[in-house]
Amino acid sequence: MHKATLDYAKQQDELDELSMYRNQFHIPKDKNGNELIYMTGNSLGLQPKQTKAYINQELEDWANLGVEGHTEAKNPWLAYHEFLTESMANVVGAKPIEVVTMNTLTANLHFMMVSFYKPTKTRYKIIIESDAFPSDKYAVESQLRHHGFDEADGLILWKPRKNEELLRYEDLETILEKHGNEVALIMIGGVNYYTGQYFNLKRITELGHKYNCMVGFDCAHGAGNVELNLHDSGADFAVWCTYKYLNSGPGSLAGCFIHERHAYNKDLNRFTGWWSHNKKTRFNMRHEFDVLPGAEGWQLSNPPILSMAAIKASLDIFNEVGIKKLTEKSKKLTGYFEFLLKQLGEDTIKIITPVNSNERGCQLSIQVLNADKALHNKLTEAGVISDWREPDVIRCAPTPLYNSFQDVYHMVDKLKDILNKKN
Ligand SMILES: *Cc1c(COP(=O)(O)O)cnc(C)c1O
Repeated sequence: MHKATLDYAKQQDELDELSMYRNQFHIPKDKNGNELIYMTGNSLGLQPKQTKAYINQELEDWANLGVEGHTEAKNPWLAYHEFLTESMANVVGAKPIEVVTMNTLTANLHFMMVSFYKPTKTRYKIIIESDAFPSDKYAVESQLRHHGFDEADGLILWKPRKNEELLRYEDLETILEKHGNEVALIMIGGVNYYTGQYFNLKRITELGHKYNCMVGFDCAHGAGNVELNLHDSGADFAVWCTYKYLNSGPGSLAGCFIHERHAYNKDLNRFTGWWSHNKKTRFNMRHEFDVLPGAEGWQLSNPPILSMAAIKASLDIFNEVGIKKLTEKSKKLTGYFEFLLKQLGEDTIKIITPVNSNERGCQLSIQVLNADKALHNKLTEAGVISDWREPDVIRCAPTPLYNSFQDVYHMVDKLKDILNKKN
């Protein structure tokens, strides 16, 4: 059977042992009730059908128990974040003591910089990727200003070479050879949101540590998408959100990783609140501050339980499937997507995401020759939900939990139709 046929895609779906998980998600529909081809799990993941029941449980316990729910709810609220820790640690390849779910992503990034960006007069610079996600760039710039440094001087950009899209490790090495002893922090998007390039976190960390820099990653596009192995990477910290590949709902809480080597370091400066304090004496309210060990010691507030319930609903699915099986399917699905796109002709389509499946997750960033946003709009009219980034990139992320080989087939087929009509 030829690979570039709908029959082949259908066969792959039949062979796929994770195909039944699609049915555990609400797939958005068009006005006529037809399922859309949803390729933006990298932006907002779809809703698991079980999320409503998880949230309802907490609404009911709140209705029936009021404040007693903190200890008497089916899932007592005081400890609710602990119910997420182990699954979250599995998703990002960390030890439970290294992981906590709290705040939102950019907020966590700032809290991590309070602890791990400790500039001195001579070592104060921060390295980020040149096309870092805007929020990350604004966050590090404001940290520089907060400490009295000039962002034009303090920010070093790791840039692609001329006429290239992807970043090369040799160029980061060159930056460090030149500026290594001025750099306080390297903060990189673990999977770049624009190109989909998945960096070798361990390699970057080892390089940074060789020059005594702190190293942190924003894994917003990595968590739930690739096997991050955060513990083994040796990174000092990492942050991520849960509303992209982790399907926990718009604006839901974020994750935070602090490497075990910092877990018992009470001297590490940090911003604190009552939730960073020893659980046993937290409610005595009069004690000297006694920080919790591990990532939990960076919490500030009692967390929003309704949002945590949505995270639990999603993580229970990830736990059941396992990130290994998920990434195995992901490589097949994205590999098939890449194969079909290439059939459209390499002079029309350029995929800027790395070709090597170990250097990317499920997202492909596609440049279409002479395309503008009109192409993206036509795709939307044809029922494909994708993401447009100026100047000329369509980002599509077939996620292994709920996207099918048929989704991928139909997406490329519709793109082909649109391109044919244009010519
Ligand atoms: C999605 C994303 C953000 C968004 O930040 P919020 O604080 O959740 O609004 C920031 N950085 C990266 C790299 C992202 O992918």
